[in-house]
Amino acid sequence: MSADPTPAHTSASAALAQHAMQAFDTMVQRSAAFTPRAGQQAMAQRIADTLARADLGECDKPTQAIAVVQAGTGVGKSAAYASTAVALALARKTRVIISTATVALQEQLMQKDLPALAQTMDEPFVYALAKGRGRYICKVKLERLVGVGTVEDDLFEEDFPAQALGSASREAREERRTRLYEHMATQLAGAGWDGDRDSLAQSPQPEDWGPVAAERHSCTVRQCPSFNSCSYYQARNALAQAQVIVANHDLVLASLGMKTLPDLDNCLVIFDEAHHLPAVALDQFSSAVDLGNLRWLDQLPKAMKEVAKALELELSEDPATVASQLKGVFNTLARMVLDMVHESTGGKDGTLRFAHGVLPDALHEPVSQMGAQAAGLQKALDALGQEVKTLSKEDPNRALQCAQLYARLGPLAPKLASAAETAQLLLEHGEQPLAKWLACTTDGDFLRLSAHACPIVPGDLLKQFLWTQVRGAVLTSASLTSCGSFDYFLQEAGLNHNPQASALEVSSPFDYATQGTLRVAQTVADPKNAAAYTQEMVDLLLEDLARVERGALVLFTSKAQMRAATDALPGVLLDVVLVQGTLSRTRLLAAHSARVEAGLPSVLFGLQSFGEGLDLPGALCETVFIAKLPFTPPSDPVDEARAEWLRRLGRDPFNELVVPTTGIKLLQWTGRAIRTESDRAEVVCYDKRLLTQAYGRRMLSGLPPYRLEQQVAGI
Ligand code: SF4
Repeated sequence: MSADPTPAHTSASAALAQHAMQAFDTMVQRSAAFTPRAGQQAMAQRIADTLARADLGECDKPTQAIAVVQAGTGVGKSAAYASTAVALALARKTRVIISTATVALQEQLMQKDLPALAQTMDEPFVYALAKGRGRYICKVKLERLVGVGTVEDDLFEEDFPAQALGSASREAREERRTRLYEHMATQLAGAGWDGDRDSLAQSPQPEDWGPVAAERHSCTVRQCPSFNSCSYYQARNALAQAQVIVANHDLVLASLGMKTLPDLDNCLVIFDEAHHLPAVALDQFSSAVDLGNLRWLDQLPKAMKEVAKALELELSEDPATVASQLKGVFNTLARMVLDMVHESTGGKDGTLRFAHGVLPDALHEPVSQMGAQAAGLQKALDALGQEVKTLSKEDPNRALQCAQLYARLGPLAPKLASAAETAQLLLEHGEQPLAKWLACTTDGDFLRLSAHACPIVPGDLLKQFLWTQVRGAVLTSASLTSCGSFDYFLQEAGLNHNPQASALEVSSPFDYATQGTLRVAQTVADPKNAAAYTQEMVDLLLEDLARVERGALVLFTSKAQMRAATDALPGVLLDVVLVQGTLSRTRLLAAHSARVEAGLPSVLFGLQSFGEGLDLPGALCETVFIAKLPFTPPSDPVDEARAEWLRRLGRDPFNELVVPTTGIKLLQWTGRAIRTESDRAEVVCYDKRLLTQAYGRRMLSGLPPYRLEQQVAGI
């Protein structure tokens, strides 16, 4: 990271930065009821300086400039980055991608923040939402299935295996699909629907949507007769006209090297909710193969032969032979996985991780065979697909037939690709090990067996694949620092040794010492003794809950802990507490608001996902109870593999990984308490380690400056 966070501007970049700040000032002046905030001003200035300095497009030695900005709650970060980045993009005749981690923030940007900004800017701009291809209908697939409802290559059935559905249920499903597909086709033809899954009045079930969803592998693109009216390609055309594109981290990382989004070296990029970026990177580069459900492997040779026959094409070899060999390897592997997992778990479901990423010798041969045979079939499938596309190009009269046949092959390609990729990763031996594990889970009468491989250091992936492309970027969130330092996030994001990246923390406009209290209870039980601690914590919590008058939130670290507290609720509190998972999140929050608005006490019980995204201002949340310090359960194979690797290097995974990760979560959890300048709230933490342990005090140092109170048990 840069020692001097704001290197000197050239005169051109200084003028651009000034222009961006004028746009910010105009936005502040023209926005009704806008309160000027020092933190927001500082954030806008850093973004303007950074994005003005970055060189875009073709140049010899381009300057990269990246700003990492932690902006506490209430700063108004989206207004700070959107006003400056949009003004700069317009001035530089380029575009901005705003990438988020959640749909909620995308909606806020599309429906509130960007329309409001557009009203204050002199120059108009167009903004659009980028979604993955799978959110749109494929007309070719829909037309093929209208009136039929039966999907002969129904790979989605693997989630609901055929045996699990009685014939009555199958018929009911086919009837439901027929009605749904007919309704979609009518709506699409009458322009009552744009083909976007999210704009349907009722969201279809995944197993109904899957067979008609657009998908890269089953699309003949320009050779498709519906290309000009294709919902997905129309949405992409709309993106091409937009100066501001709202996307998500998954899409940005999945689109690297493709043409779905603007080239990252020629646009400005804002990563909001940037603390999710490292986890999304790991997810994108991990691979898994399902060894149990192999119906697709029976369908593969059938589909290939049907397509070849229909188009009078020759297959170089009989796919049935290779598919049957591959199926044999899958079955061998499945038996080995079951035996190995059961041997390590004493016959129970579970995972078996391979220490130091070393695959046992016995698995080498079958895994290599899986990789080689899947890759061979993939090649044959690709070659056939290519021939279908060529034929479609040469004979436009057959374009529809070719598109439909191509769509029949499409869903099989990703299955082969994940088998080949997983095999390759499982066999890989690098300086830095991969996390490799087998999993066995029972779902009703069905056994799921799978093999997984995943890189363990997200920073290396982002450095190699993202930051080599991006020129001008901002990463922002309310929780980037951990224990008061950016070090952990910069390392996870692959920016710790990047001299072009600078970090800035702008504080929240809230007066935490006046508005909030952090009470740390001193339990007698050691939090490491789960049973005794949970018992004592639940007793203290119930005493505290009896005093709640308005809204409150209790955050638990595990389902077992939440169940223990729920089971212990006395009758008088049963009508006060709303437990995550008992109703949809929307209905749970609506019930909570209704009770609080009626002047009644209402307490939400939730887990990690409630600790991060909930916005409950005022009376909706006057107290946040934290059941225990939110350490990640030690069973995650990727975390375990990384900790093992650090130990091998003589490093300390607890201090390097566990404490910073927990510190970030704690910052998010406590952040639920004060949401506006007029809020008054208390945070209660029952885990005394926050004060008694050095690592706890490190975490405490990274929290906003609440007034601190200690409470001795029984007082
Ligand atoms: S262009 Fe592709 S996604 Fe669109 S309708 Fe045709 S095959 Fe389907």
